[in-house]
Amino acid sequence: MKKTLYLKFILGYLIFGLFGFLVVATFVSSMTLEHLRRDKADSLYREATLIANTYAADLYNSETSLEAVKEQLDALSVYLSAQIWIINPSGRIVMTTEMPLDVTHETVVEGFDPTVTAGSVYTTGNFFNWFSEEMLSVFSPITTNFKVRGYVVIHTPMSQIRASSESLLNISYITLVIFFLLSLIILIFFTEMVYMPLRKITAATEQYAAGNMHYEFQVDSEDEMGYLAASLSVMASEIARSEDNQKKFIANVSHDFRSPLTSIKGYLEAMQDGTIPPELHGKYLGIVHNETERLIKLTNSLLTLNNLNMKGVVLEKTSFDINEVIRSTAAAFEGTCRPRRIRIELELTGETLPVIADKGKIEQVLYNLLDNAIKFSYNDSAIRIETSEKHGKVFISVKDSGIGIPKESQKLIFDRFYKTDLSRGKDKKGTGLGLSITREIIRAHNENINVISTEGAGSEFIFSLPIDETQAE
Ligand code: ADP
Repeated sequence: MKKTLYLKFILGYLIFGLFGFLVVATFVSSMTLEHLRRDKADSLYREATLIANTYAADLYNSETSLEAVKEQLDALSVYLSAQIWIINPSGRIVMTTEMPLDVTHETVVEGFDPTVTAGSVYTTGNFFNWFSEEMLSVFSPITTNFKVRGYVVIHTPMSQIRASSESLLNISYITLVIFFLLSLIILIFFTEMVYMPLRKITAATEQYAAGNMHYEFQVDSEDEMGYLAASLSVMASEIARSEDNQKKFIANVSHDFRSPLTSIKGYLEAMQDGTIPPELHGKYLGIVHNETERLIKLTNSLLTLNNLNMKGVVLEKTSFDINEVIRSTAAAFEGTCRPRRIRIELELTGETLPVIADKGKIEQVLYNLLDNAIKFSYNDSAIRIETSEKHGKVFISVKDSGIGIPKESQKLIFDRFYKTDLSRGKDKKGTGLGLSITREIIRAHNENINVISTEGAGSEFIFSLPIDETQAE
């Protein structure tokens, strides 16, 4: 698989070379030949016309002798390296630069037909079977008194034109070879910039597929390849992280289930074998009951979290008064607060404040925040719940003046099972799941939750909800 891309590229390169060669050998070759032939024909035609209008015309007007004309044309024919003929319309050769003058013998070109050029000034072929090789023959009529008296015909062998065409073609071939070799640079670039990084990426994906998510590799380019490699690397480390989280999660769950189960088992066994006398059973069954309650709470929290984590949480959004929900949640904690002399102070914007959200879930958010606030507050202190409006949103703050959260723990408290060291001793019942559920609920609403806290001074949790503008006063 790795090899094929390279092979394909080399194959493409060779095909490119082959096509280049074929194009030069066919199109370029025939175009060059055609160009040279026309060029030669044009220049010979100019010569022929000149001869027709001067020497030949003079000859027909008897102003000069055949010998004199031949002498001139012989010299010219050497210069042009072509044969110059004067021929009558009937095909009789009046004079040719190839043969000495012979007035005693008539030389006639059989089948001579000046219309053979078919509108052009030249023709190629063996000139009515006169020549044994292919010639380029150019015609120019000799006219005196508006009558065609004969023709000046100049012949030059096509082999000469072909020879110059071939020498020109050789230049094309050499250019092609140079170009082909230069394009090797593209191959080198391809190898360095595409093939090598791609091999590294493929090797990395193989490692990842084999489960080695910690495999590290580097592609040092700032193009798409570099970007792809970086994305892949990030993806792998994300997967590795989520795998680690998963393991941690299972370890935490197991631990949190095992402790109450161990203590339940211990108490039950002690009751069975009489280590705990029957008169104390009532007390220990109470403890067992508490532990089972804790297990139920833990299971429920896990289920809630799992449901929230599943994509597309269905929120039952309605418009409701957040002030009323705050008041009723605060009231529900009165029993817990009284013995510890904790006051809950409300500072709410307006009489009513309609928001659009899932009422049941927001009640749970407030319950979790208030529960924590009370848990981590000192006796004889106050908890303040405040609402404020800004840009179509209501910001709800739950603020206590309790033990606070250490700075390094602040970004971790929303993680599953996270509990600060401070709270471990103080709150043995906590599962460390409350805030993760809270955050998931707020995220499902596309809103935010933040914490501001100072160790020893207190904590403030603030979350936002959209105001129902249609109901707002
Ligand atoms: P738990 O059920 O243990 O309270 P949470 O997820 O609700 O779990 O909270 C996680 C941890 O964050 C707590 O164990 C505690 O250490 C810390 N925390 C939460 N709220 C507060 C608060 N108001 N004051 C101090 N610490 C807090």
